[in-house]
Amino acid sequence: AREIRLASRPEGFPTVDDFQLAEAPVPTIGDGQLLVRNIVMSVDPYMRGRMNVGKSYVPPFEIGKALDGGAVGEVVASNAPGFEVGDTVLHFLGWREYGAVDAADAVKVDPEAAPVNAYLGVLGMPGMTAYAGLLDVAAFKEGDVVFVSGAAGAVGQVAGQVARLRGAKRVIGSAGSDEKVKYLVDDLGFDAAFNYRNGPVGELLAEAAPDGIDVYFDNVGGDHLEAAIDSLTMHGRVALCGAISNYNTKTPSGARNIGLAVGKRLTLRGFLVRDHEHLREQFAREVGGWIAEGKLRYQETVTEGLDRAPEAFIGMLRGENTGKALVRL
Ligand code: NDP
Repeated sequence: AREIRLASRPEGFPTVDDFQLAEAPVPTIGDGQLLVRNIVMSVDPYMRGRMNVGKSYVPPFEIGKALDGGAVGEVVASNAPGFEVGDTVLHFLGWREYGAVDAADAVKVDPEAAPVNAYLGVLGMPGMTAYAGLLDVAAFKEGDVVFVSGAAGAVGQVAGQVARLRGAKRVIGSAGSDEKVKYLVDDLGFDAAFNYRNGPVGELLAEAAPDGIDVYFDNVGGDHLEAAIDSLTMHGRVALCGAISNYNTKTPSGARNIGLAVGKRLTLRGFLVRDHEHLREQFAREVGGWIAEGKLRYQETVTEGLDRAPEAFIGMLRGENTGKALVRL
């Protein structure tokens, strides 16, 4: 069975040479385990952090070992009560064809209720991140002006639409191409959007939000966060979701105007989606409902073949994806 291993720790942007496609025996399963044949796997920004040494909120990947991450697969053998051959499960042993998954780490999903890809995207971890970040962390309320960066990505495309559907006064998005900007406005119903490569973020944001913003959903950090702090209104709130502009650099940029947060009484709050499980059911119901009614739309960027997973991962870091970046095995 094929798997992708970490060959070396990337310096700056990863390259395909930091990965190795290897052959390993199909794993044998013990008590309480499932043998899962993967169908689709996720490539996510946080995986870049796990390629570095040092402690973070998830342990680092090990050189010479298979990577892991979110995946959906089919149970082909089961040593665990409650799981049967043919079940479809969401689990954490991606980057490989076959995984020996502890039943405790597997969640059954219904491939009839939604396409399997959705359990890694709009109805999965990124969708939940958007929902919890906006509602719980940024304490969004009806009538807020909301700015979302990384808006055409997996999390961003949901965050902006949840804001719109929950009654935002105005939703503004930023993304890295004119095509993505068009997608945000024409397909997702953002009120305004800009391509951050077209000029200083501060100026572009000020133009798109002349009266300022009440909430900033930050996927990017750096100059985006700085621009948002300038634009935030009194008592503005920021959900610090990620800082992808800093993931591949040794010289991270920060918000030099952070002092403004004092006088404006801003709230800047970091969060991890895993701490917001209490919203899980509400998220599934509300976002699932909007999708079924055609009110919330989404895209995915799917790369074919496990061997191309490193390319898909690097491409995602470079912004080649619109919506959730996935790999079909
Ligand atoms: P995306 O689908 O948004 O993919 C990453 C995107 O980041 C790219 O498509 C690219 O889009 C953008 N990007 C890359 N480099 C830069 C840069 N220098 N400046 C601005 N944008 C850049 O990924 P996700 O939706 O999965 O994740 C979005 C963010 O949310 C990440 O920061 C991630 O770490 C974070 N996250 C946090 C979680 C939490 O629990 N806190 C959980 C899940 C995700 P573009 O073309 O627009 O540049």
